[in-house]
Amino acid sequence: MNIKEKLLKVCENVCFCEPMKKHTTFKVGGPADIFCEPKNIEEIKNIMDVLKDEKINYLIIGNGSNLLVADKGLKGAVIRIGDKMSDIKVCGTRMYAQSGALLSKTANMALKNSLTGMECISGIPGSVGGAVYMNAGAYGTEMSQIVNSVTYMSAKGEIKTILNKDIGFGYRKSFFTDSDNIILYCELQLEEGKAEEISARMKEVSIKRTSKQPLSVPSAGSVFKRPEGYFAGKLIEECGLKGFSVGGAEVSQLHAGFIINKGDATAADVMAVIKHVQEEVYKKFGIILETEVKILGEH
Ligand SMILES: Cc1cc2nc3c(=O)[nH]c(=O)nc-3n(C[C@H](O)[C@H](O)[C@H](O)COP(=O)(O)OP(=O)(O)OC[C@H]3O[C@@H](n4cnc5c(N)ncnc54)[C@H](O)[C@@H]3O)c2cc1C
Repeated sequence: MNIKEKLLKVCENVCFCEPMKKHTTFKVGGPADIFCEPKNIEEIKNIMDVLKDEKINYLIIGNGSNLLVADKGLKGAVIRIGDKMSDIKVCGTRMYAQSGALLSKTANMALKNSLTGMECISGIPGSVGGAVYMNAGAYGTEMSQIVNSVTYMSAKGEIKTILNKDIGFGYRKSFFTDSDNIILYCELQLEEGKAEEISARMKEVSIKRTSKQPLSVPSAGSVFKRPEGYFAGKLIEECGLKGFSVGGAEVSQLHAGFIINKGDATAADVMAVIKHVQEEVYKKFGIILETEVKILGEH
């Protein structure tokens, strides 16, 4: 059996030469050699066994909202943990979310059950897995404040549970950053609240987001990490770079921390804008802007 046949035998949703622009909110990125969307833990394990046998590297993605994939695409396999693994269960004030569940869906489930704690992060367009990996956060709440434990599969295929105190959450990083572990599900600890108040807070945060962020065009959110003591967007704006563009990629006029895809941007265009912004901010302020967005493949 060749690799295609082996994978098709263990996973219903496998394709080859899959354009990554279909799976990233930036809507850029060339093809992944292999693209799998497992529907349960057993399929993940079987895919991993095949990849290990064939010595093929893999990359896990969630909703693709923090990724910049090269135009040449990705060698090896991409395993997407998305809506096929997105169950959410509620038990008292605890929620159990599979890693493919969107944060928005999880927050809506919390609202339905009058549980408070997720309002501020309800508008982040990531999956629970991606949000844990990144320790995503907004408006004063980050994942580290609501995660009790995370269950994951190690690269060897073992299933382990790690408690919050051992996850090493930091600014946009966690125990999972740069590891091969696959986040499977997450136990969240929320608090009892009042549905009307939770709903009002979610609306308030959503209005803030819509007025301050370019949400109607493709992007990957804030491209750069916040340098200590500064805001990346403000530094970029002060360099006069709002609206700076290369090809189809442009520094957003609404929020200078965002780079938007005006429709036909390539990853090379986005990279050129990133480099220019980094150079100009360094020249003017001596500050190095590090990317928050994960840059994948050969650029
Ligand atoms: C319009 C917009 C607004 C945004 N606003 C915010 C914001 O306010 N705050 C914020 O923090 N972020 C924000 N982001 C960025 C992004 O949504 C978050 O980083 C989010 O947590 C990424 O989740 P994802 O599922 O899309 O992960 P992906 O982008 O698919 O992946 C991100 C990283 O997580 C890893 N990963 C994903 N799933 C798993 C898994 N199951 N197991 C192991 N590793 C995994 C990937 O390998 C990758 O390294 C925004 C993005 C956009 C487009």
